[in-house]
Amino acid sequence: MKTYKIACIPGDGIGKEVVPAGQTVLEALAATQNEFAFEFTSFDWGGDYFRQHGVMMPENGLDALRNQDAILFGSAGDPHIPDHITLWGLRLKICQGFDQYANVRPTRILPGIDAPLKRCKPQDLDWVIVRENSEGEYAGVGGRAHQGHPIEVATDLSVMTRAGVERIMRYAFKLAQSRPRKLLTVVTKSNAQRHAMVMWDEIALQISKEFPDVTWDKELVDACTARMVNRPASLDTLVATNLHADILSDLAAALAGSLGIAPTGNIDPERRYPSMFEPIHGSAFDIMGKGLANPVGTFWSCVMLLEHLGENAAAAALMAAIEQVTANPTLHTRDLGGSATTADVTQAVCAQIAQPQAQRKAA
Ligand code: NAD
Ligand code: MN
Repeated sequence: MKTYKIACIPGDGIGKEVVPAGQTVLEALAATQNEFAFEFTSFDWGGDYFRQHGVMMPENGLDALRNQDAILFGSAGDPHIPDHITLWGLRLKICQGFDQYANVRPTRILPGIDAPLKRCKPQDLDWVIVRENSEGEYAGVGGRAHQGHPIEVATDLSVMTRAGVERIMRYAFKLAQSRPRKLLTVVTKSNAQRHAMVMWDEIALQISKEFPDVTWDKELVDACTARMVNRPASLDTLVATNLHADILSDLAAALAGSLGIAPTGNIDPERRYPSMFEPIHGSAFDIMGKGLANPVGTFWSCVMLLEHLGENAAAAALMAAIEQVTANPTLHTRDLGGSATTADVTQAVCAQIAQPQAQRKAA
């Protein structure tokens, strides 16, 4: 029997509620079979750790994660600590330290979810957004001078490298090729940003030649927001820069019903380092500690984690259990208009997992 080592980093706010829920569901899944087991290690990094130690995670924290098979992450963000400190001190430290350069964000309207677009049928919205996760607008390059003086200046420089763009384009084309429609939209802004984004476009064209069976088009990021709303079925796989995809994927999550449902994987495709899976939402200060957090985004992230480990049957079983639960409105949390708690949804998914396959299909 294989044992997968999983690092759990709940972080802050509702991360502390949804990550333990994800762990519970993974344990329920492991209990149904004899092929694999999990060994979880939890790390108490985040805002509370910062208050004690002055840093979000220890200096050598990455070393503690290095030999893990995957990381399940909650959220970084504390009401009393500036966001750029919590984000850079924990989540980005892991993403960049482990060169998890592909951030993958699937979006679908799950059964039972009342999505906001009135003309959009559930089958019209089935996207995967691939976000460049290692450079671009979030390269951390820039600075401030003349601080506090009237001539104060500040820059955030977007940095794109040929190697960085080539690898994310290749990843996106390959992913598009693996999906039934073999359709990729390259999101750009090369009309206004005439250096790096023009190189982005050139490299997209170059890499497309390696994937003659993939149909692809280019869309400006602003036009892309309108297309997501007006013609969702015209999109399948999208690739965009770090900032563009950050924004588009929150829009995608909202169009699919709630930020609380959407999952993501921060992937090192070369598998030099562990990859990290997390719901896309943040710490949700307004609902933390109340048991109101929707754990579905974390459960779906666990599906991606299992796929990454190659446990495709278990991943499919978990996704089926999640969909059985979302299909039942009495099991919706408040963000979906219901009154179920985090614990209710977690128990319901575990109950679905425990049901034998045949019974589950018939349900
Ligand atoms: P947020 O995602 O925390 O919350 C936005 C809104 O969505 C809130 O009304 C919240 O209640 C709701 N929501 C989010 N997740 C939900 C869930 N699972 N169930 C039910 N409702 C949910 O975004 P924000 O308010 O912009 O940010 C709060 C903090 O989180 C900030 O410190 C921010 O920096 C941080 N943040 C962290 C990450 C991350 O670690 N990956 C991502 C986004 C925001
Ligand atoms: Mn975001």
